[in-house]
Amino acid sequence: MSAGSMERHQVEQLVRQIVRRVAGGAMPQASPIVPAPAAGGGKQATPSNLVVSISARHVHLTDAHVEKLFGPGRKLTPGKALFQDGFYAAEETVMIVGPRRRMLPEVRVLGPTRNFSQVELAMTDAISLGIQAPVRHSGNIEGTPGCVLVGPAGAVELSQGVIRAARHVHMSFEDCEKLGVKNGEFMTLTIKSPQCTVSFEDLLVRADKAAKLEVHIDTDEGNACNLESATEIIIKPQGKSCSCQAH
Ligand SMILES: [Zn+2]
Repeated sequence: MSAGSMERHQVEQLVRQIVRRVAGGAMPQASPIVPAPAAGGGKQATPSNLVVSISARHVHLTDAHVEKLFGPGRKLTPGKALFQDGFYAAEETVMIVGPRRRMLPEVRVLGPTRNFSQVELAMTDAISLGIQAPVRHSGNIEGTPGCVLVGPAGAVELSQGVIRAARHVHMSFEDCEKLGVKNGEFMTLTIKSPQCTVSFEDLLVRADKAAKLEVHIDTDEGNACNLESATEIIIKPQGKSCSCQAH
């Protein structure tokens, strides 16, 4: 997608008007769900402190892109703290513009800033934008589609970085021990819910010293299993690893 074909100036004008109109309208953030853990003991029992969170569509930005979108010298304004220490939903939102001017008007920016900008969508979001976003592990964005981001002070054209973030579970190395898994391995996540129990394969283990035990699924996945009504959650090692280069 080239900026030229989108008549960038016109698009910016149009979307800035809309950004102004919607600015200040907070997008609800899903609260983490902690249903009753699976019964049974042993090394690989699902821990009772397992949290499952729905990660709604969001954007990660570089410092440079924050300034381009929100103004010179601007930094993100931390809003709601996320479950993982140090991470937050920023007050700032951007508009995402796809091909043929299809757009999502108010997408939350998450902080802190990163070394590359990345847009994480659920499949439904990607369809409404007209972007074929592949499932990728965060950071593995080589060859993914781009989009245009528009903020109150300017626009940024991303040549790549629009993905559906692969379902994953954050955990510490101690949690890895307890669950019998390693960073980069896959688990199976089963969410038992009245009339819509779902098992999700290929839940990626993302281990980090400071991480708290938390599953991240997207809004489509959370809706499919009616997460808010979940009665039981089970995670089990799948016995295989991811082959991508992102971890
Ligand atoms: Zn995550």
